[in-house]
Amino acid sequence: MLMAARYHTHFLEEGKWSDYMSGAGENNDCLFCKIVEKKIPADIVYESEDIIAFKDIEPKAPIHCLIIPKKHISTINDIDGSNSNIIGLMYEAVAQLARSFNVDKDGYRVVMNCNSNGGQTVYHIHLHFLAGRQLSWPPG
Ligand code: 5GP
Ligand code: ZN
Repeated sequence: MLMAARYHTHFLEEGKWSDYMSGAGENNDCLFCKIVEKKIPADIVYESEDIIAFKDIEPKAPIHCLIIPKKHISTINDIDGSNSNIIGLMYEAVAQLARSFNVDKDGYRVVMNCNSNGGQTVYHIHLHFLAGRQLSWPPG
């Protein structure tokens, strides 16, 4: 029991216990779970209890960030009543990022790709936040 208590305390001290309980970064094979767990580095621009946002490694616009839930969800197809609250939290992060990058007035684009035809390459849902230039429509 003492060992368990120490273990819990360690998690609490590291700020990881709530993440552990909610299944954050739970998929060992997932690149973005490793970013959530800070096992691989990323340029983090926003973090809350449930959400993290970081700069895309291959930016497609002057500002290109990825907003992800800490908890692993593979694709939009896995969204249901049990986890859909995370989508609102992701858009709260978008609104805050838009203000902090000072692009809220000029505008920006938010995109979530799904599976092969949608162009998804990382199977942990993420919003692309693109800003800083005129974006064309329709997308390619
Ligand atoms: P998707 O193609 O799945 O919609 O978007 C995946 C995005 O993740 C791409 O824009 C890609 O550049 C980005 N990406 C892939 N690997 C890494 C990485 O290790 N670090 C960061 N910051 N972004 C990555
Ligand atoms: Zn993941």
